[in-house]
Amino acid sequence: MEERNPSFPGPRREELEPVLRQVFEEARGYLAGIDERAVREPGCDAAAEAFGGGLPERGVGAAAALAELARDGFRGAAHTAGPRCFHFVMGGATPAALGADFFATLLDQLAYAWVSSPLAVRLEQVVLGWLRELFELPAGWSGVITTGATMANFVNLAVARQWCGQELGVDVAEQGLYGLAPIPVFAGGYLHPAAEKALSMLGLGRGTVRRCVRDAVGRFDVHALARGLADLKGRPAIVCLTAGEPTAGDFDPIAEVAELVAGHPVWLHVDGAFGLFARVSPRTRALCDGIERAQSLTVDGHKWLNVPYDCGFALNRAPELMGHTFRYAASYLARPDEARPVPGGFGPESSRRARSFAAWATLRAYGRSGVRAIVEGNLDRAVELAQLVDAAPDLERLADVPLNVVCFRARPPGIAEGELDALNERLGAALLADGRFLVGTGRHDGRVALRPAISSWRTRPEDIALFVAVVRELASGLAT
Ligand SMILES: *Cc1c(COP(=O)(O)O)cnc(C)c1O
Repeated sequence: MEERNPSFPGPRREELEPVLRQVFEEARGYLAGIDERAVREPGCDAAAEAFGGGLPERGVGAAAALAELARDGFRGAAHTAGPRCFHFVMGGATPAALGADFFATLLDQLAYAWVSSPLAVRLEQVVLGWLRELFELPAGWSGVITTGATMANFVNLAVARQWCGQELGVDVAEQGLYGLAPIPVFAGGYLHPAAEKALSMLGLGRGTVRRCVRDAVGRFDVHALARGLADLKGRPAIVCLTAGEPTAGDFDPIAEVAELVAGHPVWLHVDGAFGLFARVSPRTRALCDGIERAQSLTVDGHKWLNVPYDCGFALNRAPELMGHTFRYAASYLARPDEARPVPGGFGPESSRRARSFAAWATLRAYGRSGVRAIVEGNLDRAVELAQLVDAAPDLERLADVPLNVVCFRARPPGIAEGELDALNERLGAALLADGRFLVGTGRHDGRVALRPAISSWRTRPEDIALFVAVVRELASGLAT
């Protein structure tokens, strides 16, 4: 380790060369072991909690700080970049995306306007165009890169709100919602809490959503929507659909709803954070039929595209409403109407990271067929998992597997139905404590279930087989 210059406590140029070597060596060692590493290692929580103490008056220097982060810190991380993370819906980072994301930090680009980074802004436009091609959207779609699906829903629902106001003669971006009666928002039972959060932030209210639900699973009731729209007598409304819900990977009936709302003044929004990727495989494409008729679409980058956190995309047909809603103007800033796009004026963030680097690199490196290969590999893994579950006498699948999520529970012989929820809650906790895999529980049709979502390019058949073995091992320990 190099000597620190005792006279100057701040950063020094000489630190950079050893830092680069150190980062490379750590990365090499880390990636070499990640396929077999437990997602949460024993001592993980304590390792994270060991960080603390007061702000140092004198620092330790870059080499020592980074060594501490790697040596002590990595044990406190969840190794979700590996093949055995099935919690939430989490992608890995492709090699191309990992490298390009490092370049985004290396160049420290401000992806706000052309003047602050021509490359970041250009790549963002290219990526948005490529995504239009990937998802086979017609001409006229525009968009902005966000931190994830939550903010993409925020952008798209803000544009929807602006459109509803415009239909009623009110410019919401200028005048607020004060002059308007409540804007009707319709959704099914699959509406994601991230969309609810966006409705809360937008002053539309998550509690005002009119639910069109036909059963305890939460499936969409198209007839209820038809009745609700008829009652509005021509007032504008927002309809918010979900393409891929996280408990079992199910979809709202997008084509049917698109057909229904075509005769009404409706902004049709589809949250397809991971589910939109069903569109890229002929095996699942039909699930997304009708998305091309929506006004806005939300999709994540850090889920099935397998780019690093954080990255999402708001796609919509109303660039002028988006630019008006998120207008960001002052005499010292880029002009919002300048010839080049100003992404910092299309979404909530003004200063923003160049997320376009990683998304561009992965699409450039692997192309449409490479994205399809990731998706279809995960679909295969989900089928394998479902088959192993079906073959196991002590496991019970609770739902069809339309996509990459397998919803099932432990059902050891001799355990009464009434005890299964508690058992599966304990199983979920035992899996987290075990740490070899990261997987979460949810409720499907009222029953507690495991809901592994397979979304990483790294996940192999042997990971699926080991996962089932671990679940059965832990479940049998709990049942006796
Ligand atoms: C994951 C998810 C979200 C939230 O996405 P973030 O990227 O965490 O903001 C929203 N909607 C759906 C359907 C999701 O699966």
